[in-house]
Formats: sequence, structure tokens, C-alpha cells
Amino acid sequence: MPARTVLQPSDITRALTRISHEILESNRGGSDLVILGIPTRGVVLAERVGAILESIEPGSGTVGTLDITMYRDDLGRNLTRTPRPTRIPPGGIDGKTVVLVDDVLFSGRTIRAALDAMVDLGRPRAVRLAVLVDRGHRELPIRADFVGKNLPSSLAERINVRLDEIDGVEEVTIEP
Ligand code: 5GP
Ligand code: MG
Repeated sequence: MPARTVLQPSDITRALTRISHEILESNRGGSDLVILGIPTRGVVLAERVGAILESIEPGSGTVGTLDITMYRDDLGRNLTRTPRPTRIPPGGIDGKTVVLVDDVLFSGRTIRAALDAMVDLGRPRAVRLAVLVDRGHRELPIRADFVGKNLPSSLAERINVRLDEIDGVEEVTIEP
């Protein structure tokens, strides 16, 4: 069976716009927000959310990146992993509401590693999670606060997230 398209470009844009509004609503405005993207595609999504936040409320779209490579609990299994840079905005994360952004939420282990990585960078007031796709199959007590699309999937299925900036094409597909 071929891959099935679950989100088209306009769906992705709408989801990110809604998530941005939800972030502002739950934070009661844009003050002290830091949006941190998890490489690779989480960074692109975080930048887009940051730009939307800026357009709604100037000054609210502070964006950085959080590499979690060295905090994975399965690090020993893959020696080829090389860390990518973590880029924390000048104001840091102390006392801020940090919104982690990733493309797909699956077992939750990446986010666990992100929480671990953040301990070394400061002490946020609160940490929230935004993902474009929640495909289920959590192995840890982790959930997303902001979800583009809930996509119940079988373990054998693969979700492909393709974004213009990286892939030159914009779509989310599910493949058996
Ligand atoms: P987790 O750590 O929650 O098991 O997996 C989440 C991380 O792995 C995310 O950074 C995401 O990019 C990647 N990932 C896990 N499952 C999928 C999937 O089905 N499709 C895509 N595109 N990425 C996935
Ligand atoms: Mg990823």
C-alpha cells in the first residue's frame, strides 16, 4: 500500500497557527516565552511557531534549539551519533516558560532526554510540549500540551514529516 497523505501544506500551516494561539492563550500572553526546537525538524517547526507568535504579539517569538543527542538513554547503541549545537537565546531559560517543539511524539524518550538536557541549562518556570504529530505508543508518562494532529498508528507504520526548508516538499504521510 502506498503512503497516505494525512496533512497537506495548508493543514500544517493551520495547525501551527492554532498551536501558536494556544500557546499564547495558555501562557496568558507572550511574555517570558522561549520556544525550543528539537533537531532536526522540530527546529524548523519552532522557527515557524516563533514567526507566527511574533506576528500575533511582537516580542513573544524567542526561539532556540535544544540538542538531545548526548542525553539519549540509548546512546551506547549508536556510536555514530554526533551532537548538534544547542542554541539558547541570550535571555536564557531561567524563570521562562519553555515550549519544546518536535515533529513526532512517539515513545516519549526524546522528550525525556530534552528535559534532562534542560537541567544543565537553567530552571524554567514551566515546560510545555508542542508536536506536529502524536502517533501514540508512549513508553513514559509524557504527553503533549499542544498537538497538530493525533494520528493513532500501528507500530509497523511510519509517519513521514516533510518540510519545505529541509525536504523541499511539505506534507505528512503515513506509510504501512
Ligand atoms: P520518541 O523519542 O518519542 O520515541 O520519538 C520521537 C522522536 O523520534 C522525534 O524526534 C521524531 O522526530 C522521531 N520519530 C519517532 N517516530 C517517528 C515517526 O514515525 N516518524 C517521524 N518522522 N519521526 C519519528
Ligand atoms: Mg526528531
